Amino acid sequence: MKITDKYHRPVFSLRISITNRCNVKCFYCHHDGIIPQNYEMTPEEIERIVRVAKEIGIKKIRLSGGEPLIRDDIIDIIQRISSIGFQDVSLTTNGTLLGKYAEKLVDAGLNRVNVSFDTLDPETYRFITKKDYLDQAKDGIKKASEAGLYPVKVNMVVMKNINHHEIWDMFQFCRENGAILQLIELLKTDNCPDTAFFDEYHYEMDEIEEELVELSSKIKTRQFMQDRKKYFVEGGEIEIVKPMDNTNFCKNCTRLRITPDGKIKPCLLKNDNLTDLINPIRQGYSDEELKKLFLDAIEKREPFYKEEC
Ligand code: SAM
Repeated sequence: MKITDKYHRPVFSLRISITNRCNVKCFYCHHDGIIPQNYEMTPEEIERIVRVAKEIGIKKIRLSGGEPLIRDDIIDIIQRISSIGFQDVSLTTNGTLLGKYAEKLVDAGLNRVNVSFDTLDPETYRFITKKDYLDQAKDGIKKASEAGLYPVKVNMVVMKNINHHEIWDMFQFCRENGAILQLIELLKTDNCPDTAFFDEYHYEMDEIEEELVELSSKIKTRQFMQDRKKYFVEGGEIEIVKPMDNTNFCKNCTRLRITPDGKIKPCLLKNDNLTDLINPIRQGYSDEELKKLFLDAIEKREPFYKEEC
């Protein structure tokens, strides 16, 4: 089954936030656009949701949070999802627990990971996360590559006067560890802990993009990945993720999200168009009725940034 929304955008990926808990406290964190609450779905409920999602045409599942590896039942969750049979099962993590879990995750059927990792400098790491887990995170990236999670992507939120000068060191670190570097634009969302940081730290990536165009042997545009650009430089790869005011980013969005309390969320940047799934599941709705809720949520999809006619 192939499903598109009213803007003719195919919908085939689902990002599930399985917890709001996290073991680091990044000052800029948007919590995947979710208003923090203490609620987690059970592995059985997550499995039911992804089974129905597959029936409406979802092909790719990504787990996020909060920190997904903080859940004691993470291996069970991955096993349940991967046994259903998706094109891709991935996870976004801060990497601090990856050293412990990488091999078990591979055995459970996880295909790949994105590791949020912004700096190689211990003081900057502490400033951003309020924790001293730099070495654990570095080790997690290495172990993920060694365990065969592929590709490992390192998500670096680039911030002016915090880490923008580290881009090439980070690239070197990624290349040494078989990872792709993703440079992510700092985003301001309604639920960021405080928005004052944005003006101070937002970094325009135009200059680095110009440099990458000069240095790249090849450039690819990943249409169904929000039109992201991928640059191939000296045996390594760098991707740029620039959502702010980017109509192409929204035009090529293929994603639905699920919040930790079991609501379908059509857009990272909006919280006024959610569709409850968990209560219907608990009230005994059939798969057909749950599919209808997915279709209603897809009907509510709107590009956050759209071209004015
Ligand atoms: N704990 C996991 C992790 O650290 O990757 C998953 C949750 S985290 C909210 C998911 C992604 O959102 C991370 O790659 C993080 O860097 C990114 N992120 C969080 N706040 C952001 C912001 N204000 N701007 C851009 N990216 C942000």
